[in-house]
Amino acid sequence: MELDSFSDEFGPELIYEVYDPRTGLRGVTVVDNTALGPGKGGIRMTPTVDVTEVFRLARTMTWKNSLAGLPFGGAKSGIIADVKNISRDKKKDLMQAFGRALRPIAPKKYIAAPDVNTAEEEMRWFVEANGSHHSATGKPSNMCVKPGVKCGIPHEYGSTGYGVSIATLTAARYLGIDPKGMTVAIEGFGNVGTFAAKYLQEAGAIVVAVSDSKGCVYNKGGMKYSDLMAAKEKKGTVTAYNKGEMLPNSKIFEIPVDVIIPAAMPDVITKENVGRVRAKAIVEGANIPMTEEMEEILHGRGVLVVPDFLANAGGVISSYAEYMGRNPRDMFKLVKEKLERNSELVLKRAEKENMKPRNTALLIAKERVKAAMAKRDKKF
Ligand code: NAD
Repeated sequence: MELDSFSDEFGPELIYEVYDPRTGLRGVTVVDNTALGPGKGGIRMTPTVDVTEVFRLARTMTWKNSLAGLPFGGAKSGIIADVKNISRDKKKDLMQAFGRALRPIAPKKYIAAPDVNTAEEEMRWFVEANGSHHSATGKPSNMCVKPGVKCGIPHEYGSTGYGVSIATLTAARYLGIDPKGMTVAIEGFGNVGTFAAKYLQEAGAIVVAVSDSKGCVYNKGGMKYSDLMAAKEKKGTVTAYNKGEMLPNSKIFEIPVDVIIPAAMPDVITKENVGRVRAKAIVEGANIPMTEEMEEILHGRGVLVVPDFLANAGGVISSYAEYMGRNPRDMFKLVKEKLERNSELVLKRAEKENMKPRNTALLIAKERVKAAMAKRDKKF
């Protein structure tokens, strides 16, 4: 394992490998840094997940939680499983075995959440086996700590897409674009894309293009969120919306709009198409929709890029609200407050110090973790 090549002053603090012969569970949790609080990050279940991948994701969580201003450190877990070829019962067995095995570190040093191939039901199994409802967030909304006291805020409430809409509106204000009439193109119409569209439309923005894995639909005059959802619900794809022009889904990045929101795949803005981007801003709803090199090119051309770990932090902010026992209404309030404050902070400082927003965001996240580490070291 090449951990030595990327471990540093920040972490990882703990690598917790788990084997359970009875269920065949093989998993790992990497707690990267806990200076700000217990390590927070999702559990992914794939056939290929390994400690290196989990470490890199844990490190991303260290910066994301710090930048979001949450009292959480960074962590992540992986369970090796051929998830497409196992039964629901087998998946339940594995999640429960993992929940039991992590009792020594969760929730004290690690708090789980959904990630690739795990969702609210998996969190229920994990928490029930672990014994503490604080050991995971993203639990079902009907899960109770005690009769009548609900403890789950699942990702299905749309906190990430809502947060993306707030980051977009903050970026628009910064650029002097009036949200009323601001044109938006959204790549991906899943959890993040649908909620971003909904809340941006509510703020007066005009959604002129959306895409999913089947293609892109474009209407210069704008499309109603409810009509797009109806098309998606009826035919399983937004391309069934019949009052627009159909385009190949790669064309969405070339449409002349105020803002593009990538909310699906990694590496969609590339050397090949970056020169054809005509938007004023790109708000990264998806993780790593382009390399830093592409961000640099766009920055050089005056296109504002709001980085992923700032723009899509609504989910972790919601996790914090759930952890603190808040209700969904308070959760939305917290996402708005934090996303507005953090986006403004990053954009203004980036301008003042003549930096790319991603570099400024990382700098702020590191400064906060370093300060917490110094405080912790002083205590001992
Ligand atoms: P999802 O599975 O709910 O939706 C993905 C959407 O992308 C679907 O509509 C799918 O049809 C579409 N898609 C797939 N291939 C496409 C293509 N080639 N072109 C256009 N659209 C395509 O996923 P999600 O939860 O909305 O996540 C989207 C992105 O946001 C991912 O990068 C994810 O890592 C990131 N993210 C999600 C959350 C969250 O809370 N859901 C949090 C942080 C980051």
